[in-house]
Amino acid sequence: MRHLAEGIDRFQRDVFPAKAGLFAHLATTHHPGTLFIGCADARVVPELITQADPGDLFVIRTAGNLVPAYAPGADSADGVAASIEYAVAVLGVRAIVVCGHSACGAMTALAEGHDLSAAPAVAGWLRHADAARARIAAVDAGHRLAALVRENVAAQLANLATHPAVARALAEGTVRLHGWVFDIPTGTVEELATDARPARAA
Ligand SMILES: [Zn+2]
Repeated sequence: MRHLAEGIDRFQRDVFPAKAGLFAHLATTHHPGTLFIGCADARVVPELITQADPGDLFVIRTAGNLVPAYAPGADSADGVAASIEYAVAVLGVRAIVVCGHSACGAMTALAEGHDLSAAPAVAGWLRHADAARARIAAVDAGHRLAALVRENVAAQLANLATHPAVARALAEGTVRLHGWVFDIPTGTVEELATDARPARAA
């Protein structure tokens, strides 16, 4: 933990002063333009890879960048659904990014069929990637992980569109959905072609 405390000291001394004006503005303003849904993986840092400023990104990070489809009557413990609704319906984000990444532990467990009996919550959570996993059943083992990472981004974009706030914004043409894959060893971000376009033609 000590390096984190040292990091706070360094932030206050070396970083904050240059952004003091921005933080003063943000003290009373919260209008992020983008909802960024990424993996909880420590190596995928949304603000770093996009060079976004504080205030730019509303971020949800989950294991495997999974977005459960909307479930009517779901219990109030569903923080992902609440965060999506808040970002879209209250904050009015104009773009939503679902970002997968190379060497994803969640996708690796699925692609390689790991035994998750000792991690039942993880196993249950990863069921939200069942559709993606079904799509790569015929892919050979050497390409399965990369294919699953991509199919999972597409599947989670489809899940995202089942949330009423997102469906409404898509129908009104006020939000666009984007699928990305971040490659850790090269630092590159690939934008995937998505068919999740606004329902109404411009
Ligand atoms: Zn991951």
